[in-house]
Amino acid sequence: MVKLPEFLKTDCYVGGKWVAASSGRRLDVTDPATGDVLASVPRMGAAETDAAIATAQAAFPDWSGRTAADRALVLQKWAALVRAHAEDLARLMTLEQGKPMAESLGEIEYAASFLSWFAEEGRRLYGDIIPPHRNDARILVTRNPLGVVGGITPWNFPVAMVTRKAAPALAAGNCMVLKPAEATPLSALAVAALGEMAGLPAGVFNVVTGAREDAPTIGKALVDSPLVRKIGFTGSTAVGKQLMRDCAGDLTKISLELGGNAAFIVFDDADIEAALDGIQICKFRNSGQTCIAANRILVQESIHDKFVATLSARAGQIQVGHGLEKATQMGPLIDERGMEKVERLVADAVGKGAKVHVGGKRHEVGGAYFQPTVMTDVSTDMDLAHEELFGPVAAISTFRDEQDAISMANDTPYGLAGYFYSRDVGRIFRVADALEVGIVGVNTGLISTEVAPFGGVKESGIGREGSKYGIDDWTELKYICLAGL
Ligand code: ADP
Repeated sequence: MVKLPEFLKTDCYVGGKWVAASSGRRLDVTDPATGDVLASVPRMGAAETDAAIATAQAAFPDWSGRTAADRALVLQKWAALVRAHAEDLARLMTLEQGKPMAESLGEIEYAASFLSWFAEEGRRLYGDIIPPHRNDARILVTRNPLGVVGGITPWNFPVAMVTRKAAPALAAGNCMVLKPAEATPLSALAVAALGEMAGLPAGVFNVVTGAREDAPTIGKALVDSPLVRKIGFTGSTAVGKQLMRDCAGDLTKISLELGGNAAFIVFDDADIEAALDGIQICKFRNSGQTCIAANRILVQESIHDKFVATLSARAGQIQVGHGLEKATQMGPLIDERGMEKVERLVADAVGKGAKVHVGGKRHEVGGAYFQPTVMTDVSTDMDLAHEELFGPVAAISTFRDEQDAISMANDTPYGLAGYFYSRDVGRIFRVADALEVGIVGVNTGLISTEVAPFGGVKESGIGREGSKYGIDDWTELKYICLAGL
C-alpha cells in the first residue's frame, strides 16, 4: 500500500467518531493511473446511514442555536486547515482521482474558498420586514436552517464538491450526512478530519462511504428518512432523476447539479489564441471529466481549418502521465468504465464519418490513459453530440452564422454551461442571452468561482451552488405575522 499522509483517515466519520462498517466489509480505493490499492474504506449500509442521520439530528439543536458568527469561526478555521494541508490533500486527490498536482492544488484552494465564503454568507442570512396588510400587524420574514441534510458527491472534484455543499449547509445551521463517490472517499474523509480539527461539534458533519453497489442503499436511507429535509446531489442525470422521484415520497427538497453538454462556440471575429487557451482549460483539464467541459466545439466555417490545425498541434503536445510527475499536464481517466464510454463514443463518431486529427485511442502508456484527441466533421447523428463525453476528446463541427450557432448550441436537453469567443459587443449580449444554460463563459473557459452562482437549466439541474444565492437552497423561509399591536 502507498504511504498516505498521517492525518488522513480510512474509516467513516459519524457522530464525531471514526467508525467501520458493522459488517466489517471494506472497499479498496485505487490509484486510477496504476491500479495500485491506496487504502480501504468501510462499506456502509442502511443501518449505518440511519445512525449517521440520528447523530446529525441530535447535533442540530446546539449547532443551529449558535450564532452565525460562532459557526463562521469554525468554518473559517476549517478553511485555514484545508489551506495549510493543501499539499497533502492535493497529493491524496491526485493519487485517488488521477488529476495532475497543479490541478489538485487548484481544486483545494477552490474548495477552501467555499468554506471561507459561506462562513461569511451565513452571517448575512438576512430576513425581511414587509409592509403589513393591516395596521395592527407587522410582518417578519426569517431564514431558518432545514435540519438534517444529505450530500451526495461525485469523483471528478472530490474535495470542492464536498465543501460547495457542506459549507453553505453548515453555515446556515444545518447538520449534514455526506456520501462521497466510491472512487474518491479518501479526500472526503480527509476534509472531515480537518473539520474535526477545526472544532466541528460531533454529528454536525458525517461521512458515510460505500461501494458503487451500496450507493442506492445509502441514497435511499437518506431520501426516505423523515429526518432528512434536503438532498444536495452532484452527479449523473440518470441518478439525479431517480433521486428526485424518490424525494417525492415525503417531499424532501432536492438540489441537482447534473450532466452538461456544453457548446464552445468560436466566431470568426474571436481572438483565436484565447479560444485555444480556453479549450485547454475546458476540454483537457481533468482529462475532460467535468460537467462544464466543452462537449461540442462549434467553429465558424471560415476559420475552421486553421483552428483545427493549431488545436491538433497543441493537443499532440500535451504531456500525459501520472499526476504526481512534475511534467504531467493530463492524467488518466477515472476508471475502465469511463474509458469504455470514451472509446464507444469515438468509435460511433468515426463510424458515422468523423475524422480524427490527433489521438483517438487509449494512450500507449497503458492503464486508463486516453490520448488527447481532436476530431472534426462531428454531426448531430453521432452519440457524442448528445452524451457527455467525459474524456479529452475535442469534437468539432462547423456553423455558418450566429443564428446557426445558437440553434446548434441549444439543440440539447442539457443546459449547464456554454462558452463563446467573439469580440463584437452586440453579438456578445445577443448570444449570452440566447444560450439556454445556467452559466455562460464569454472569451473564457474558466468560469468556476465561489463568488458566482453555479448550476444548470433544463435537464442539467435545479438550484445554484456558490455565491450569495448558494445558501438559499439550504434554508427555509418563515413568515411571522405579529398582530394585535
Ligand atoms: P458517475 O457515473 O459520474 O459516477 P453517478 O451519478 O453514478 O455519476 O455518481 C455520483 C454520486 O452518486 C456518487 O457518489 C455515487 O455513489 C452516487 N450514486 C450512484 N447511484 C446512486 C443511487 N442510486 N442513489 C444515490 N446515490 C447514488
